Amino acid sequence: MRYLYLAPQSHMARRVSRPAARTATSGAPSRSKCGGSGDPPRKVVGGAALLAAAALCVAVGRCAPAGEPGARPAEAAGPLIAGVPHVKQKPDFCGEACAEMVLRHLGKAATQDDVFNAGGVDPLLGRGCWTKELAGALGRIGFKVGEVWHKLPVEGSTGRAATAAQRQSPPMGGQAVAVPPFGADPASQTGYAGASLAAQWSAVQADLARGIPSIVCTHYDDKPGATEHFRLVLGYDAKTDEVVYHDPGRDDGAYLRMKKAEFLALWVLKSPDGAMVIRLRMEPGDIRIPQRAAGFTAADFAQHIMVLKKKVPAFAGSAGVAKVAEAEAPATAGKPAGFTVALAGPFVVVGDEAPETVRRRATGVVKWAVDHLKADFFTKDTDDIIDVWLFKDKESYEKHARSIFGDTPDTPYGYYSTTHKALIMNIQTGGGTLVHEIVHPLMRANFPDCPTWFNEGLASLYEQCEEKGGHICGRTNWRLDGLQKAIRAGGLASFKDLTATTDGQFYREGRGDNYAQARYLCLYLQERGLLVKLFHEFVARHKDDPTGYKTLQSVLGETDMAAFQKRWEAWVLKLKFP
Ligand SMILES: [Zn+2]
Repeated sequence: MRYLYLAPQSHMARRVSRPAARTATSGAPSRSKCGGSGDPPRKVVGGAALLAAAALCVAVGRCAPAGEPGARPAEAAGPLIAGVPHVKQKPDFCGEACAEMVLRHLGKAATQDDVFNAGGVDPLLGRGCWTKELAGALGRIGFKVGEVWHKLPVEGSTGRAATAAQRQSPPMGGQAVAVPPFGADPASQTGYAGASLAAQWSAVQADLARGIPSIVCTHYDDKPGATEHFRLVLGYDAKTDEVVYHDPGRDDGAYLRMKKAEFLALWVLKSPDGAMVIRLRMEPGDIRIPQRAAGFTAADFAQHIMVLKKKVPAFAGSAGVAKVAEAEAPATAGKPAGFTVALAGPFVVVGDEAPETVRRRATGVVKWAVDHLKADFFTKDTDDIIDVWLFKDKESYEKHARSIFGDTPDTPYGYYSTTHKALIMNIQTGGGTLVHEIVHPLMRANFPDCPTWFNEGLASLYEQCEEKGGHICGRTNWRLDGLQKAIRAGGLASFKDLTATTDGQFYREGRGDNYAQARYLCLYLQERGLLVKLFHEFVARHKDDPTGYKTLQSVLGETDMAAFQKRWEAWVLKLKFP
């Protein structure tokens, strides 16, 4: 009997944080943290118990009743789909990796990321596809997955007892009470109807005989609280009564074997009113891999969020929190309000202001700046996904810079940490520094040889900016006063000297003047519609003109740069701020 069962979310998650206990092909515990999105690997429970379980399995395997549905004569090997490549999963992408194995077997150049991306999971959730999303992705790609959730009818009072207990078990990854011990015949020892489980296995085996593998959602092992984990079933060896499968969580996960009784025990998951099994048939229809978007995809962000989750103070150590996304941590007694995470690709914004404020900054400042900078200057995303930490005030900024990054900031505004690939800001000092810092990683990705004077000139131009005619436009700002004083004092460098400065010279010698001079040169170029032109010509010519001085001259149409500087200084002296 088969039932279509719509599983609640609690049955769809599987995050594995524990190595496989034992398989017939590998006696040693796996070294890998399958799916472990960084959880500390738990100690492998091993030794005597497992050996005992193994012995039991072998005994039961040998003594399996001949009439068991799906069983074959002992000498028959049974169906096996050979030559399926094994793919190691990324954290929490076990289902996606199983799908990649089948796709590659079918000769399709698709990855686990493509499968995740087809699942439509919000990357902010920081997890892989759950069953429902995986089924959706596989359907979209062209697999005829068939019915996915199969309820196992409960029989008699033992079944009801199990059900009551199951309702109290943890909502995710909890061990179903109905799972029988290894070696036991699940058909005879539990509350659900063994015949229906046998029928489900028969269906798997019938598909195997037709060359169709199945992705199954299983408990990782038989320990209480074992997480759920997708595996790819590829065969059944009737001679040894073993299920043959690929485990995406293990480096050595190809064609592993497990006694059928053990497999069936792990396959049965709890459901609110009994037990069920989850199976996705991998029968190919018209397979089409969705076009991959340029730049970072949802899969990249999901993986990034999984790592980030551990750094977000309110979530540190709370591995059980599945929803980080909209993820305001609850303001529990004595604890500060939590952090909010928002996407503004290629940046991920994390802040401890009010959730709507963090989201507004992500959209209104970070995304706005990225979109506008890309429209005029940059074609490529940053090399890495970069976190933008917006701490609400000085106290939070200094405290978290220390506790999260081990830094003692030497600026009150914020800084970029190459080690952590993060902008770390005190947002109370204003958003100007934020836009300034956004320019740098984009510049690095698009114009890695950009000299410091132009990198800092352009970045500081947008410390004060607005949108004009659809473009990002710098305005006068606090740097004007110092620059005007320097001009009046006659102490400003020539543009030839400014453009020739090395990093060290730019940052050390006359630091404030250098920033201001470079910034107001950029503002001048912007006001004459030459800034975007200078950038693109500079990128094109920088091998011949590494300082940009010749490009500057040609864009300005100037041969007499001393005369130009006089005109520029006179222009600067007329500017006003505020
Ligand atoms: Zn800078």
